[in-house]
Amino acid sequence: MTFQGHIEGIALGPYINGTRRKVSGDAHPSYDPATGEVLCDVPVSGTDLVDEAVEASRIALKGAWASVTPAERSRMLNRVAQAIRKDAQRLATVECLDSGKPLREAVGDIETSARYFEYYAGIADKLQGDTIPLGPDFVSFTMHEPIGATAHIIPWNFPLVTTARGLAPALAAGATAVIKPAEQTPLTALMLPVYLEQAGIPAGVVNVVCGPGKMTGAPLTQHPGIAHVTFTGSVDTGKTVMMSAASHIASTTMELGGKSPVVVLADADFDAAIEGTLKAIFTNAGQVCSAGSRLVIERSVADKFLSELIKRIEQFTFGHGLDNPNIGPVVSKQQLLKIEGIVRDSVSAGAELLTGGNIKRPDKLNGWFFEPTILLAGDSSTKCVQEEIFGPVLTVQIAADFEHALELAEGTDFGLVAGIYTKDVSKALRFSRKISAGQVFINQFFAGGVETPFGGTKNSGFGREKGLEGLKAYYTVKTVTARI
Ligand code: ADP
Repeated sequence: MTFQGHIEGIALGPYINGTRRKVSGDAHPSYDPATGEVLCDVPVSGTDLVDEAVEASRIALKGAWASVTPAERSRMLNRVAQAIRKDAQRLATVECLDSGKPLREAVGDIETSARYFEYYAGIADKLQGDTIPLGPDFVSFTMHEPIGATAHIIPWNFPLVTTARGLAPALAAGATAVIKPAEQTPLTALMLPVYLEQAGIPAGVVNVVCGPGKMTGAPLTQHPGIAHVTFTGSVDTGKTVMMSAASHIASTTMELGGKSPVVVLADADFDAAIEGTLKAIFTNAGQVCSAGSRLVIERSVADKFLSELIKRIEQFTFGHGLDNPNIGPVVSKQQLLKIEGIVRDSVSAGAELLTGGNIKRPDKLNGWFFEPTILLAGDSSTKCVQEEIFGPVLTVQIAADFEHALELAEGTDFGLVAGIYTKDVSKALRFSRKISAGQVFINQFFAGGVETPFGGTKNSGFGREKGLEGLKAYYTVKTVTARI
């Protein structure tokens, strides 16, 4: 099975200052993770092209983009949303092929991407400052100014959504951008300029460069012309990116993943908690920063709950993302082997395998599939409790009571999201207050959306994206005070 036809016509060169550049030299393959076949080779932008992209975004910042009124910026962002929606089917197909995710999830991603542009279109002309009362002899007020040229380093699990999540508020605030998609999944970011042009966004405002982190991401984040870096990825790469940004005093937003708990108390609505747990860990084959990858369950309901989970998982279908299976492939062979390694190490360290645990080979597909897996954690220090696996692997921790559940939920270095299923409002709110997490989901995992601020605590990073909070990274506040 080959699907190269679906990606015909996508311009693969870097997009700099409104033109598509032809690049000879290094290229990076983009694979169909379900078949393991190369979809296309995407030219790599090295330091020279990255410099040109940053330069273009800095010129646009002071030039073409600065002269667009906020009201017109708002209209442009709305038009980007419309253009994305118009081409949603194609974008979803390409996203599905490039990342491996089931088509229905890719369809959801594309709609969410459009929604980001629409949401931030609504605020572009309402970013106003304050007047500050200093008494009769002064006038003092604040002005919001665009932060400057911004770099967006994108992960492979939600390619277009993560791009839109940072780009839409950056543009709303009047900033400009250089996007570097993940080398594994560059295709929808490469399609984006078509919609930006249709919407009338001037040349140079958004630039797209592709390539591996060391070749393209590093020169971009090290570039002194970049004022802010929005990064989503691993903790180690995040640290490197922060050091690059520090070298030229750029601010950063760091979204670094998690090991998020789904707490199920004995009084929880059983069916809602089952559905929520399955969604929390098996969406996108577990390759979700905010996945609920640890089930913390009260002992009195654990047996019944786990039997039902296992029964449901054993009915899961596997297959190519375009066929909408329950579980698609993971993004790469490297990721597949990483998942397998953590599961193996955890079992050697005493975790009990309740189901799954192996690499899977669905019919006629040579790609990278892993069985949905449940591990009963032994010790809290086991890798499956502490490390982000980024695969379809759920770790179970049994809690004696609510206080114990809270202690287990809190017991990692991460703090991205935390879910709780209970009918007891006091417990849900006590949990919300006590847990270290950027967001808490009560009785529905992944509750919220484009409007609800998102980000981490502890090793999950800092800064907030989404919602009105997400704008703050992209403007600075200037205070003007006059003696009159
Ligand atoms: P993973 O290991 O899961 O691929 P990474 O955190 O390494 O996750 O990658 C996330 C994003 O960061 C990707 O776009 C990647 O190319 C980029 N990246 C990797 N290394 C660097 C680096 N040194 N500087 C800037 N970006 C990088």
